[in-house]
Amino acid sequence: MNKLERIVEHDAGARAVRRCEELGCEPYSDMRGGLFRPYLGAAHKAAMATLRGWMHDAGMSVRTDPAGTVIGRYEGAEANAPALLIGSHIDSVWNGGFYDGALGVMLGVECVAAFASRGIRLPFALEVVAFGDEEGSRFPLSMLGSRAMAGKAVGDVSQMRDRTGATLHEAMRGAGLDVGRMGEARRNRQDILAYLEAHIEQGPVLEHADAPLAAVSAIAGIQRFYVRVQGQAGHAGTVPLSMRRDALAAACEMVLGIEALARAHVDDFVATVGKIEAHPGAVNVIPGSASLSVEIRSADAQCLERAFLQVKELVGSIAGRRHVGWEVQDHQTFAPAPCDGRLVDLLRSGIRAEGMPEHVLVSGAGHDAMMMTDWVPTAMLFLRSPGGISHHPDESVIVADVQAAFAVMVNFITRLPEVLDISARQGTVV
Ligand SMILES: [Zn+2]
Repeated sequence: MNKLERIVEHDAGARAVRRCEELGCEPYSDMRGGLFRPYLGAAHKAAMATLRGWMHDAGMSVRTDPAGTVIGRYEGAEANAPALLIGSHIDSVWNGGFYDGALGVMLGVECVAAFASRGIRLPFALEVVAFGDEEGSRFPLSMLGSRAMAGKAVGDVSQMRDRTGATLHEAMRGAGLDVGRMGEARRNRQDILAYLEAHIEQGPVLEHADAPLAAVSAIAGIQRFYVRVQGQAGHAGTVPLSMRRDALAAACEMVLGIEALARAHVDDFVATVGKIEAHPGAVNVIPGSASLSVEIRSADAQCLERAFLQVKELVGSIAGRRHVGWEVQDHQTFAPAPCDGRLVDLLRSGIRAEGMPEHVLVSGAGHDAMMMTDWVPTAMLFLRSPGGISHHPDESVIVADVQAAFAVMVNFITRLPEVLDISARQGTVV
């Protein structure tokens, strides 16, 4: 039996799951009867301390970077070798699930423990990274830790406030961090080999396909904007229907039109109207203006752009027919983030080696990996989400899936030198 076979035998998956559950209640949650672990709250700080202990026990040297990311490092055969980062986030949404984010971190700890406990040194270092602010559930900015690590601009965020009025500056000071030094979290590109993130799917696709795991090909890009519709307010009793310019009725036709458009392009993009408002908003007044949010997601930048133009054309034609004005406001674009093709293939072959059906998915949700794809070769592994449930206390995982994910990750780490340009030396027992 070779080393790799022995590595995948132990109960790493069960321990990773147990640790996520352990972090699911006080003192690792800031709400009673559920999980809420926002950035730099008491629960997050407690989770950071416990995680540091687990990382240390697994054989890592541990530090916290200036953005509050806990980093455990396991040196390679030679000191200061470039590192494969394995990570995700340990913050949560309000009343969230135990596994969103935390599972990817715990699986990273298990991977290191598997190599370290056997004295295997790889031709590169392993670093487990636990970002503290992916969800943006405390301050109005998400993915702060991964953004800072990849050297992406975060702007002047020191005076951003949470719901209690506390500034980011104060929150960081309370955790022994200095917001003015956040830029120092940036890593040198040459010190990083690649980034691997395991995460629950948070959707129903894998369960429907009866597949435990999938390699992620890309994280979808987003076009997000508001359409403001300008009609004419009037008395609900005196203005005949034929003479109305009802902004809300026009907006509703737009909602259904956008849905029909997305259904007709089901392989290219998804589109959602999540919010609609009408003014003045009275029972006896014809709505004079309305506003609707539109969000389009696609893994293909051209599809995304084309879909945006199609939505605008549709909105324009409905507005023209109904004699209302319209404009697009607050347009934001997030480019699709493609994973590295070589690493996607490596995950696929690992999934195949586990005797599982090979699935490749686009991630419709944003993840820390988004901040990495244009910086270092990036890979993401999805685990099936029972019921497709996430961001909810009923979020769950299947232990056997987690064990399989662990095996695929160990396979990925072991075979990484085959696809990335590192001298493919054998791991040595020291
Ligand atoms: Zn997450």
